[in-house]
Amino acid sequence: MDNMQNLNRSIQCSVFSCKHNNNQQGYCVLDKIVVGTHEPNPTDKQCADCRSFVKKNCCNG
Ligand code: SF4
Repeated sequence: MDNMQNLNRSIQCSVFSCKHNNNQQGYCVLDKIVVGTHEPNPTDKQCADCRSFVKKNCCNG
């Protein structure tokens, strides 16, 4: 399971519903992530999304 892997101290994250989040310490466990946007012309930080997000306990592991 991802949460058993070493956390990545370069990627701090508070999205605890993501399966890649190490809930206890608030870090991502992936080596790298992809960041994108859902906006045609992003103007604020709310426009940026983690594209590596996967809902915990969802789908294919
Ligand atoms: S994949 Fe993205 S949303 Fe999920 S823990 Fe890592 S940084 Fe957070």
